[in-house]
Amino acid sequence: MNGMGRFDQAFYDRAVVAAERPASQDILLVTIDAPTIESLGRGPLNPAVHAALLERLGGARAVALDFDFSAPDGAAPDSDAVLARAIRQHGRVVLPAMLSPLPRPTSVQPPVARLGEAAAALGFANVVPDADGVVRHATWRAALRDGVWPHMALAMLEAGGEGDRARRLVSRLDASGVGGIPYAGPPGHLRTVSYLQLLQGRVPADWIQDRYALVGNGSEVGEAYRTPGALPARGMSGVEILGNMIQAARDDIVIRPAPNWLNALACALPVLLLCLALRYLPPRGALLLTGVMFVAVLAGAFLALRYVQLWFAPSAALLGLALSYPLWSWRGQETVLRYMDHELKRLRREYPPILGEARSPALGTNWSVEDRLDQLRQALTRVRNLRRFLADSLDGIPDVTLVFDAGGRLQFCNRAALDYFRGLGVRAPRNGQPAAWLMEKIVADADARADINRALHELRPDEREAPWSLDLEVLDYTGRNFIVKCAPIRTDEGTYAGSVVTLNDITAIRQAERKREETLRFVSHDMRAPQNSILALVDLNRGRQQDAGAQHEAWTRIGQLANRTLRLVDDFVQLTRAESLHIGQARVDLTALLLDAMDDVWALAQARGITLEAPRELPQAFVRGDHALLRRALTNLLDNAIKYTAAGGHVRATLEEEAGSWSVSIVDDGVGIAAADLPHLFQAFSRVGPTARADSGAGLGLAFVHTVASRHGGAVRVDSRPGRGSTFTLGLPADLAEDDETGD
Ligand code: ADP
Repeated sequence: MNGMGRFDQAFYDRAVVAAERPASQDILLVTIDAPTIESLGRGPLNPAVHAALLERLGGARAVALDFDFSAPDGAAPDSDAVLARAIRQHGRVVLPAMLSPLPRPTSVQPPVARLGEAAAALGFANVVPDADGVVRHATWRAALRDGVWPHMALAMLEAGGEGDRARRLVSRLDASGVGGIPYAGPPGHLRTVSYLQLLQGRVPADWIQDRYALVGNGSEVGEAYRTPGALPARGMSGVEILGNMIQAARDDIVIRPAPNWLNALACALPVLLLCLALRYLPPRGALLLTGVMFVAVLAGAFLALRYVQLWFAPSAALLGLALSYPLWSWRGQETVLRYMDHELKRLRREYPPILGEARSPALGTNWSVEDRLDQLRQALTRVRNLRRFLADSLDGIPDVTLVFDAGGRLQFCNRAALDYFRGLGVRAPRNGQPAAWLMEKIVADADARADINRALHELRPDEREAPWSLDLEVLDYTGRNFIVKCAPIRTDEGTYAGSVVTLNDITAIRQAERKREETLRFVSHDMRAPQNSILALVDLNRGRQQDAGAQHEAWTRIGQLANRTLRLVDDFVQLTRAESLHIGQARVDLTALLLDAMDDVWALAQARGITLEAPRELPQAFVRGDHALLRRALTNLLDNAIKYTAAGGHVRATLEEEAGSWSVSIVDDGVGIAAADLPHLFQAFSRVGPTARADSGAGLGLAFVHTVASRHGGAVRVDSRPGRGSTFTLGLPADLAEDDETGD
């Protein structure tokens, strides 16, 4: 987890480079470079030369002589003594020791005793590159069998009087004493002078005074190490690494690897957070968040390195994040597909195909997404068909049907409903309209409306199982009778989702009922009354000695009553026939009919002393219809005119064409009709005016005329004034066919 894999190393190097700092002016590198070698010769320098150099560095805060002094100089044994003297004289010189074996040292090899004893401090100076050859870490302090050894950088601080800084740094390291080197810059970053330059005294004194002087081989002469971010060709000398370490220690920064538990947490937490967020995000958001988390982990690792010098290896977190998204997508897709399969199966089970859809093959378990989409498409087509099917079914219902949602707002209305509203003269209902508003347009009775509204808005517990939540008879504004029924709609889970309201037009039934009532009344009274009178008369005359006059009187009365009954029955039968008979389409000449009808009533008119007249020249007036019914209608009108006209009066018939129809008018100068009676004159059983006349009927004659007229597509109207006479006009559509064939 903290393995510094190749990716982590690259990231670490970039982060270290990004955190570079200006070089400290307190550190001076004194390196043996090409000109030095040229003038002093190749190979280890004579210790006496070092002694001379030390003299030049007399003002330095501390001096590190980073050369191998582990063996006495065989060529010039005395010179070691010269150097030892110079070291002792300087007093703040640090010499290197070598840890061995690497990388797990167990012992340290100090410089030759003479020099070692003269030095102010000793420190190990090993440089240990990582497997890829880059020097990232150093062992700042090594606990060996023979004691704890500091790194030369810390020994320098100790010698320079800044031992507290060295101790503070060490205290922050773990037992291994290993810490990352926060390089201040690339090779060549620190102030560097050449050994020769210094030896010749060509270095400004204030570069030396109170500075840390580090003397060693330059990178082009000695070992050159790769450092983070540096090109492989440009290595850093061991002495510059030492300089970087001194600067870091003085700045109190050392890069520590995060403890394993913290690193594990830092890797797991982003992945966990992403997994949680994925549950709630749409796929696009999830992808975006994954990218954001990626950047956040990298930024977090960088910031931790830069500001708290803690190293978190980000690769494990990044790998976790990178895997989370595809894994989550895969699981999500599987779940969706499984759910889809389940629902498709359910749909298939619950709704067998309607409207002749093709039956799709059964679902396979290893179907591709495309196959399933195909299935879904088919299923959706079926759902759409189902909707169409329902809408068409509702449209096919002849009753007004309105569907409301749970809030009482219109969701659907069928064709009958649209027609009905059009008939009412109200704007067609639209979806979303409140039920209360619609009901106000239909139902006049406020109580009934309240009942309907209640049924549409809630479902009482006792109604949960009932098929209807309302069953009510109401009267609409046009006077039509309706049965209003509300049926609750329930969701799959059984909750109330709305209502279907049907308005069943029962006006015809109610009318038939009223008619039956009237008929019963007629039969029970008007037909029975003459019979009773007959019986009474018969009783009266039975066994009684009577004179011829009285007997004649009685027989006349009996005859009248019997006639009246007969006529009533006759009228009734005729009216019923006129209402129900199929009307033929024969071509009929109204003039001929009118003349025939006048012949029928001629005798009656004669008997009553009434003049019956018609124009001498009448046109041929063809209509289509039933010969017998029309003739009887005309006879009825003439008959009434004669009956309700006093002796000596006139009854006149006329025939004329107006606006495509023939009008026959029967005009009399009889008793006339009161204006108040005119509106219901043509209703069955309505008798107006004085009814005590022996020859008055049951009020069926005009009803018959009216029925015949309307069934022939015509109309009858009356114009009358009491005492002046009446005019009844029968209008029938003219048959304008050219041929003069008279039909049967
Ligand atoms: P009825 O068989 O009783 O005559 P009708 O339907 O023919 O019934 O007439 C209904 C009523 O209309 C009559 O009772 C009568 O009072 C009135 N009526 C009909 N025709 C005339 C008329 N020409 N003049 C005056 N009153 C009439």
